[in-house]
Amino acid sequence: MKELLGGKGAVLADMTHLELPVPFGFTITTEACHFYHLNNGYPTGFEEEFDIHLKDMEKRTGKQFGSKENPLLVSVRSGAKISMPGMMDTILNLGLNDETIQGLIKKTGNERFCWDAYRRFINMFGDVVLDVPHEKFEEIMDKMKKEKNVKLDTQLTSDDLKNLTSKYRRLVTDYTGKDFPDNPREQLRLAIEAVFKSWDNKRAIAYRQINKITGLFGTAVNIQSMVFGNMGDTSGTGVAFTRNPSTGSKEFYGEFLINAQGEDVVAGIRTPQKIETLEKIMPDVYKQLFAIQKKLERHYKNMQDIEFTIECGRLFILQSRNGKRTAQAAIKIAVSMVKEKLISRADAIKQVNPDQLNQLLHPTIPAAYKANVLCKGLAASPGAAVGKVVFTPEDACEWVEDGEKVILVRKETSPEDIQGMYAAQAILTAMGGMTSHAAVVCRGMGKPCVAGCSSIHVDVKNKIFSCGDVIVKEGDIITLNGSAGEIILGGVKLEEPAMSPEFKIFMDWADKFRTMHVRANADTPHDAKVGREFGAEGIGLCRTEHMFFEPDRIPLIREMILAEDIIGRKKALDKLLPLQKQDFIEIFTAMDGYPVTIRLLDPPLHEFLPNTSQQINDLAKTMNIDPEQLKKTADSLHEINPMLGHRGCRLAVTYPEIYEMQARAIIEAAIEATKKGIKVLPEIEIPIIGMAGELKLLRKLVEDVLENYRDQIKFPVKIGTMIELPRACLTADKIAPYADFFSFGTNDLTQMTYGFSRDDAGKFLPVYLEKGVFERDPTETIDKPGVGELMKLCVKLGRGIKPELEIGICGEHGGEPESVKFCHNIGLNYVSCSPYRIPLARLAAAQAAIEYTYKLIPNP
Ligand code: PEP
Ligand code: MG
Repeated sequence: MKELLGGKGAVLADMTHLELPVPFGFTITTEACHFYHLNNGYPTGFEEEFDIHLKDMEKRTGKQFGSKENPLLVSVRSGAKISMPGMMDTILNLGLNDETIQGLIKKTGNERFCWDAYRRFINMFGDVVLDVPHEKFEEIMDKMKKEKNVKLDTQLTSDDLKNLTSKYRRLVTDYTGKDFPDNPREQLRLAIEAVFKSWDNKRAIAYRQINKITGLFGTAVNIQSMVFGNMGDTSGTGVAFTRNPSTGSKEFYGEFLINAQGEDVVAGIRTPQKIETLEKIMPDVYKQLFAIQKKLERHYKNMQDIEFTIECGRLFILQSRNGKRTAQAAIKIAVSMVKEKLISRADAIKQVNPDQLNQLLHPTIPAAYKANVLCKGLAASPGAAVGKVVFTPEDACEWVEDGEKVILVRKETSPEDIQGMYAAQAILTAMGGMTSHAAVVCRGMGKPCVAGCSSIHVDVKNKIFSCGDVIVKEGDIITLNGSAGEIILGGVKLEEPAMSPEFKIFMDWADKFRTMHVRANADTPHDAKVGREFGAEGIGLCRTEHMFFEPDRIPLIREMILAEDIIGRKKALDKLLPLQKQDFIEIFTAMDGYPVTIRLLDPPLHEFLPNTSQQINDLAKTMNIDPEQLKKTADSLHEINPMLGHRGCRLAVTYPEIYEMQARAIIEAAIEATKKGIKVLPEIEIPIIGMAGELKLLRKLVEDVLENYRDQIKFPVKIGTMIELPRACLTADKIAPYADFFSFGTNDLTQMTYGFSRDDAGKFLPVYLEKGVFERDPTETIDKPGVGELMKLCVKLGRGIKPELEIGICGEHGGEPESVKFCHNIGLNYVSCSPYRIPLARLAAAQAAIEYTYKLIPNP
């Protein structure tokens, strides 16, 4: 019931049914949150139902909410369907006031604890509900610690905390102009509203955007009776994972703090102890916790992240959720769980997020490199990164916009830092443990992180950090090794990653499920080889113009453009032919036995000429021609709107000799490669077709070239088209008779459908996203209602004429998981994407096949 109760609420209900020690409570649904946002109020009957549940809680706990004798205190926590750690609000110890605290003192006999709970409550409530900045409370706390000459808040006495409480209350009054609300029911009402509202706070919105979380109603609110980890040395709180979230090893893993409450572990305020220590201090509690974590993992069939509290030696489980993990860990856990017969292979494939595979491609520091390590912290998230040091999330964003690579250095991170963390290459924090905010978020994002590096002192004001005598300033380059927890001064040359044995097993399983092929977009023999290494089954797009930009070729293409007549053009093209041919031979060789789609020239010709008069004069000099003449030609090629101009097949209708040369180069290369024993499957592709007539004309042009080699062609050759214009989709049945294949160029198809240029859309797309006009950027993921519908129609019309028509995609969307799944569903034969995204596309294709094809067969 995650949709309705949120992840946390559903799991709490579930754990209660499993008879685990969960504090009593109830959940206000996501529907209520949605209703609240739409109507600025609660649904009818809400209050009555709420009272019933509160009464029930009082009955079960034997305490009364608001009682001066035996008060019930509650926690109010957010929880959406998809976990968004730290993004929304939580309030603990709610129900305290100057009267109920007396009851609590009487009942617990622990005055210090009670004042500690009270001051925490005022701080949290003040911050979350009444908008009093948390730093204001911190300032008072720091001042008090200084006065009392202590380092830790645990060293403050009961009287100190009592004193602190009244100072906090005064701060609230001064800041808000109103007294702190003492009525527990009023506190509860305000807290629930604040949690509802936190659904739309800035950091929650940013988190949803970054993590592409869409289509949710809102957050649920969980109200639970409080249990306390700060009642002394037999109390504590912690976070544990059923397996190691960094490496994936099967080991119970976690951290805890004695005499601490709620978010202390996650916030990284004190550096916690390892879970093994708990076994020594409280063996019975450890035994119980160990058994529970096993049960939870078996129940959810996934690695769990468990929050627990120990109150006076008694264990409570506050939460369990699928744990965030690195990509390495995700693969290892999925493969191990299949081997342990806990899950099926299909479940294993579904368990890994394709986007995460990017992490596996992270560079590392070469093993042989003898690093001069400046300082060491915790190896919180693996991989290495090099970047310039910045100290604020805002600076991180700005520097990255200016094209810099940065490493964000913080004392500790908080959810507000999320955008800066996203922009940075890696994060270094001075405080916090392996489950601190920085560590958890970085692992999720696949960014290297070193946390808890206590030997550094971070001075945000002066934008420096120091480590002993060494001062590192803003803009200095450092290397961060998140796999070893090390910081190195200067930039280390990093090494590309190697794949683990589990990765191979996992990807083999994925390949067995998927029905779509995955090809590479590769313009050079090198890209083709990398593509094969990552598992590409051919090339879906080779953009031939990229070959023309090489230094030995651009003069030749310029010579062709500047030639006065067809004879001159052909002469220049004849010189280009052997160079193109050689590239094609190498590409065919790398793709031995697999299809290679080669696109004939696409961009408008002016792209090959210089722009400024200085550049024109220089070029005229090197080419030994009249600068005026060159300028005239450049002017004549000038386009008002190049994206809609003289490009693609339009070039070949006017200058057929360009495509003739390219067709010759392809076919001669194929013949030559065949002679060397290579199996070639060339697919000659014509871009920007909008009319059947264009393809009819240009197919004939290519066929006429092939005719000259008829006796030597001992392999199938396909001639087809890219589908990049809405008109091509709408008339696919007219185009199909002339095409052996279609390949969706969704980069162009998206810009042509929306009528915006992909090069200029950057000016307004971010604002569209910010204002919610787009949920996701259509240049990143296929716009299903628009572009997607055109694709569907095209498939239907094309295959209506030729049922076996091969159809693929080669736009950027071919490497984006959601789009890959969409392509599967509309029946494409393959997706093609940049070499580094191939593993991701293979996995997404397998997931699509499992979701849609194997839906009815459990555990294949
Ligand atoms: C496309 O338009 O999707 C495509 C692959 O071609 P290009 O990006 O080269 O225009
Ligand atoms: Mg295109």
